[in-house]
Amino acid sequence: MQHTDILIVGAGHAGAQAAAALRQNKFSGSIAIVGEETELPYERPPLSKEYLLGRKTFDNILLRPAGFWTSHEIQMLLGHRVVGVDAAEHHVTTSAGLALTYGVMIWATGGAPRRLPCAGGELCGVHSVRNRMDVDRMTSELADTRNVVVIGGGYIGLEAAAVLVQLGKLVTIVEVQDRVLARVAGQCLSDFYAREHRSRGVDVRLGTGVDRLVGNGARVTGVALSDGTVLPAEMVIVGIGIQPAVEPLRAAGLPETNGVEVDEFCRSVLPDVFAIGDCAAHVNKYSAQSLPIRLESVQNANDQAKVVARFIAGERASYDAVPWFWSDQYDLKLQTVGLSGGHDSVVVRGDPAQGSFSVVYLKQGRVLALDCVNAVRDYVQGKALIQQRAEPDVAALSDPAVKLKSLLPSGAIAQAKD
Ligand SMILES: Cc1cc2nc3c(=O)[nH]c(=O)nc-3n(C[C@H](O)[C@H](O)[C@H](O)COP(=O)(O)OP(=O)(O)OC[C@H]3O[C@@H](n4cnc5c(N)ncnc54)[C@H](O)[C@@H]3O)c2cc1C
Repeated sequence: MQHTDILIVGAGHAGAQAAAALRQNKFSGSIAIVGEETELPYERPPLSKEYLLGRKTFDNILLRPAGFWTSHEIQMLLGHRVVGVDAAEHHVTTSAGLALTYGVMIWATGGAPRRLPCAGGELCGVHSVRNRMDVDRMTSELADTRNVVVIGGGYIGLEAAAVLVQLGKLVTIVEVQDRVLARVAGQCLSDFYAREHRSRGVDVRLGTGVDRLVGNGARVTGVALSDGTVLPAEMVIVGIGIQPAVEPLRAAGLPETNGVEVDEFCRSVLPDVFAIGDCAAHVNKYSAQSLPIRLESVQNANDQAKVVARFIAGERASYDAVPWFWSDQYDLKLQTVGLSGGHDSVVVRGDPAQGSFSVVYLKQGRVLALDCVNAVRDYVQGKALIQQRAEPDVAALSDPAVKLKSLLPSGAIAQAKD
């Protein structure tokens, strides 16, 4: 049976970064990454953006060139899904029958797309957008597709809709809530994105559920909505979130929570098991709510990976990065910084009708988060407001002519970037 000092499960953003960061921190023991997908680690964000649009090839989105893994002596065990974990014995088994022992395990498995809870979800032509194979399958069907229905108005659904309408498809977004991005953003941003999509020809249906998917035997042909309408569809994209991929850890004794709960060093309650990335739930220093949350972002995956690598190298540097995220739709670059959950007021800087503005979320006068659309300076300077726990004057905050860095508490201004 093979033994490895560090076993990383999941060859995505977090797993790949953890291995690279371990070597950067001069870790000289053995490292193996077990990954369910057969590809070397690649960037996931372009899947609903440039890769789907055909502007980037798969080689363009590899996280590191193939030679990196061999030159850094990081063993890649790809096409293997970990199905069994014995935490006490430090032992895992994979679906292909491989058995491994480890010193420390880093669980970095992300999540699996939520399935539609109605009939028809298994029909051909129904897709999720989570991995390269999903998008390659979609792309191969595009030539025969005229009507696309996107179920779910979150970031991934909206990005896919933006690409597909640019590719000349007739796109409808169906969202059960009364606004898009309801889980992650305030009303102003939701209204802005619904308007932008409609102005580009997307049919955005809010407050509408899906009753079932309709097919002609094997293939999807339409989506039956809760209001009785049947939308024609040769392709359906389901973007209704993910379920953290943690079943083998549950079977090994992990408590039933939202993903793997971890402490400030990303340690789980299982011995010598860390968890990072989309599957890990932590109490974030910048959250107004003190409950463990899972962040689904490249920033979180990379920064948690670095915390674990440093911990293993003997450095106790707790996770305290300010959360950030981006989304590209059409010519609109959204950059989000901080966590808006629990805000009690909102200030809008600039005019959404001009396509460049920021939404600032506050709680009891303190800045919690910003959503910045084509407003990179607000994004950069807003981060400092969050870090400094600033309580700026609201009149000044709402004036886009006032630089955000001028609203920092005195003493912090000199450090703020332009
Ligand atoms: C289409 C799309 C667009 C996105 N756009 C953005 C964006 O614009 N900005 C942003 O910040 N974030 C974006 N994200 C989110 C970001 O990509 C994720 O937060 C990030 O990939 C999380 O990294 P991870 O390593 O935790 O999970 P993943 O990157 O999902 O990697 C997990 C890997 O583990 C594998 N795995 C699962 N279970 C097992 C098992 N039992 N054994 C072995 N392997 C296993 C999976 O197959 C997968 O390869 C996007 C995500 C998607 C899907």
